[in-house]
Amino acid sequence: MSNIYKCPNIGNCDKADSGELITIPNGVEPICPNQDCKSKLIPTSGFSPGGKINQPVIIAGILLLVVVVVGWLDISLFLHLVLRAMRRVSPLR
Ligand SMILES: [Zn+2]
Repeated sequence: MSNIYKCPNIGNCDKADSGELITIPNGVEPICPNQDCKSKLIPTSGFSPGGKINQPVIIAGILLLVVVVVGWLDISLFLHLVLRAMRRVSPLR
């Protein structure tokens, strides 16, 4: 077994700049193999190539969109019912 890491030292390390995935065997200290860097590596999930967007943000965005759409439909439906009720109440002369 081995773990996949990324170097967080962006701006100072080629491997960090390119988002290169670094595989470190289990039990070995995760240190960047770049001789000029040697930063402590951060673990990645391994299946998201260059994925900087994390799922909670996407889910929150979708939920917000749903809330906005449902809220808007609710308001327009409410206004529609109010207008219909007003039309019905208004006297026909
Ligand atoms: Zn590095």
